[in-house]
Amino acid sequence: MTKTDWIQQEIEGLKNQGLYNTIRTIGSPQGAWLIVDGKKVLNFCSNNYLGLANHPALVSAARKASEEMGVGPAAVRSIAGTTNLHTDLEERLARFKGVEAAITFQSGFAANLATIPALVGKEDVIFSDRLNHASIIDGCRLSGAKIVAYEHNDVKSLEEQIQANMSQHRRSLIVTDGVFSMDGDIAPLAQVHEVAKKYEILLMVDDAHGEGVLGRGGRGIVDHFGLHGKVDVEIGTMSKAFGVVGGIVAGKAVIIEWLRQRGRPFLFSSAMTLPDVAACRAAVDLLEDSTQLVDRLWGNAKYFKGEMKKLGFNTGLSETPITPIMLGEAPLAQQFSRELFEMGIFAMAIGYPTVPQGKARIRVMISAAHSKDDLDKGLDAFKQVGRKVGVI
Ligand SMILES: *Cc1c(COP(=O)(O)O)cnc(C)c1O
Repeated sequence: MTKTDWIQQEIEGLKNQGLYNTIRTIGSPQGAWLIVDGKKVLNFCSNNYLGLANHPALVSAARKASEEMGVGPAAVRSIAGTTNLHTDLEERLARFKGVEAAITFQSGFAANLATIPALVGKEDVIFSDRLNHASIIDGCRLSGAKIVAYEHNDVKSLEEQIQANMSQHRRSLIVTDGVFSMDGDIAPLAQVHEVAKKYEILLMVDDAHGEGVLGRGGRGIVDHFGLHGKVDVEIGTMSKAFGVVGGIVAGKAVIIEWLRQRGRPFLFSSAMTLPDVAACRAAVDLLEDSTQLVDRLWGNAKYFKGEMKKLGFNTGLSETPITPIMLGEAPLAQQFSRELFEMGIFAMAIGYPTVPQGKARIRVMISAAHSKDDLDKGLDAFKQVGRKVGVI
């Protein structure tokens, strides 16, 4: 026996249960079509909702920034200072989202790890949707606050938990995903806000899958529900619809100021790189100029989902371009994904622990980059594999 034998055994266990992650290698730019493991395939996997990951305007902004300003930020912002590119992006994001202020982080994951422990601590309580993203859960744990999960998207359960737990604690925080990434359903944010207001509790929403997707021209979930000024803090990411990388925290100016003082990934980790910042700013420009890409994304999503339902597939609770194809057991979902890949369709199976046991699925990510012909090719492959494995 060696010290690492247990890891090998765990890995074998994952393989036997059909839960082992095989990571494919991409040899082309992002887009509707990819070269994956040397094979040309139609891409239904990425979060590149608007096709911006290799958009010429973003590429050229990144190139220009690196030529003029270099690449790396060289140290954390609180020690070595911050570039005008970073502060300019933050001002632009705040204006785009209609909030008092915004701050960027290295990723959406880091934004959650920064924000939650800065707002609550050991004497406090967090009310967290049961299906919140892993980075919210980790941020909650890191804070040391008591974590009370309420039933998914259930405002009644939220209120019951508040009544049972709030008075024993100093401060409270309600936190929810905006769009739930595995099911594509949307948090009932207007009702959650009513509860937050009634009990005077800080409200935080993680809009990673809503940024660039929901609201007018992709301004996010707060805009979608017309809740401007009512949600204390919004987390976002520039790694999905924005096509780049980087986290956003947007909201009340005092919270953003506090994160510059107490957000640990701000204080102890270097900032986004300059080409990334410039590319993100170019993405904001595109979204402010035109709603064409966002409109196209929603048109594609509506068409694909409608046709999948007509074929007899179960697309679950989705209200967004995230389209889960519910299959049940993980090995079936993995087989489905392999058969699709053979036919030139890249769509990943998702199983436990990313989704609950018995709720394995293929998750199709629709993009504005898909043409109608691409979507029809995908639909045809789903029809053939679905019939072959007896799902439809
Ligand atoms: C993807 C995602 C994140 C992480 O964003 P990154 O920028 O990729 O780190 C955080 N929260 C939610 C809800 C997400 O879906």
